Amino acid sequence: MTGHGVPTSRPQGSFSFYISAYRSDLILPASELADAVTIAGPKGPAAMRRVRGAGLESDVLFDGMGYAGKELPPAAEWVRTQLESGATRTLLPGVFLPWDKDDETSVSDVVAAQAALGEDIGSTMLLALDSRWLAKRSDLLMDVLRRASAPAALVLAHRADPLAAGGAVQAVRQLARSIPGLMLLRSDHGSIGALAFGAQHASVGLTTSTRHFTTAEMKARRLPGGSSRVFVRGLLDWFRAGEIAGWTAAGSETRCHLSCCRGADLGRFLDPDLDATWHNMCAIADFADFVLNADPEDRAAEFLAECRRTASLYGLAGFNGPESPKSQLTGWALS
Ligand SMILES: [Zn+2]
Repeated sequence: MTGHGVPTSRPQGSFSFYISAYRSDLILPASELADAVTIAGPKGPAAMRRVRGAGLESDVLFDGMGYAGKELPPAAEWVRTQLESGATRTLLPGVFLPWDKDDETSVSDVVAAQAALGEDIGSTMLLALDSRWLAKRSDLLMDVLRRASAPAALVLAHRADPLAAGGAVQAVRQLARSIPGLMLLRSDHGSIGALAFGAQHASVGLTTSTRHFTTAEMKARRLPGGSSRVFVRGLLDWFRAGEIAGWTAAGSETRCHLSCCRGADLGRFLDPDLDATWHNMCAIADFADFVLNADPEDRAAEFLAECRRTASLYGLAGFNGPESPKSQLTGWALS
């Protein structure tokens, strides 16, 4: 099958976890919670074949990271390798679209060439783009993707949060509504918002380097402190375990009632011997399920209501957690 959709038992839309090929130990657990697994890097197909041997049956996508300069076989061969490794929807090697406010033609030209290639070999374009195209030139991006003759998978590049810039959330929402078969890969929980508005697939990363793409020039932000990053389902955002442990009296929002934690406090991940990965997977999957298990007609409204309800928790009297939501959540809540 070389169709353009990731098969799933749910109507319209699916999600996967985005896992680096060198963390193949996470592929099996990820596949238990999601519709598919996305494996990143040129060694993805080899990693997948090893796990298939161990009994994995999940659907798989391969992000070869050609946009990051990784060496890959020519497009047709790379696509064939993905099919042989069990992918039902293949991706081109991938290109990066750097920001240039004075040059629109190169984006149109590059996307048109990728679309022609994708159409020719029955594969999806893989476009990593500087998130300023999204925040500042969504009209151009929309136009270019609408005209493309092959579907697109987008990877957003930014030094911290591609959806934090003003206008970025609205642009994702518009793209998801308007571009058939759109996928967001290597993303944070914002891509679950894209699913709510009609995107076909969201692949969510679990580490700072797999939740977006950062070029060498972008200088990724390094925050002080080394405690684990934890997704807090009740606050719809990632926080350091050290921060969470400091929110005395933040009440029920720091407890996780999913099967991963059974009511335990998330501040416990301050202990470096405790790994937060399984909790993070379960919490992200719970949020994705919340959206995908809703009727497609109701998803957008339910997602926005959840964002608004969550954003309002931050300011409540007596809540001794973070004072205000981060800009992405505010972007969704106000949209
Ligand atoms: Zn948990």
